[in-house]
Amino acid sequence: MSQIATLFQLNDSLPECSDPADPVQAEMALRYAMLFWLAKAEQHFNKNFPQPELDLSLRGRCAGQAYLQTWKVRFNLGLLKENYEAFMQEVVPHELAHLIAFREFGGKIRPHGKEWRWVMEQVLGVPARTTHQFDVTQTAKQNYLYHCACPERTHALTIRRHNKIVRGTNYLCKSCNSILIFDSERNAK
Ligand SMILES: [Zn+2]
Ligand SMILES: [Zn+2]
Repeated sequence: MSQIATLFQLNDSLPECSDPADPVQAEMALRYAMLFWLAKAEQHFNKNFPQPELDLSLRGRCAGQAYLQTWKVRFNLGLLKENYEAFMQEVVPHELAHLIAFREFGGKIRPHGKEWRWVMEQVLGVPARTTHQFDVTQTAKQNYLYHCACPERTHALTIRRHNKIVRGTNYLCKSCNSILIFDSERNAK
């Protein structure tokens, strides 16, 4: 059994937090929750995984974002304040499951496809929901929605850029270097 799993035999539950608005407490809770869910994965696969790097600088409407190549997860402390339980029970395992699915099945899988769902449900024991809370960005005039290979990532483009793509220009995601693929047009209000 791994070190982390042994550690959590002593205290096999998610952390409580008296004040999730306190960034120090929030960070400790996130680190602890990450180890808690990581221990479940290690038990399932009977091997150790590296600890993901945590970055707490995410802003906006996206709760978390997994960086597969660099084994890093960004969390949104502004949203954690209001959604502490959801972060512990759902957001942390959701993002960790992206890392594990990538490591075990490679980079060609769909972000919320069957491999990710299997990790969520069979490995971590969490319902595999993809809720609105994980969606990104509402910026005025950027009404053309594209995706790349990053999980959770929606790129909202202006009509100017969209028209350039229609005419044959390719735009690459700066994080994953994949070509942006058109999803849908958002109704402008
Ligand atoms: Zn990307
Ligand atoms: Zn996701």
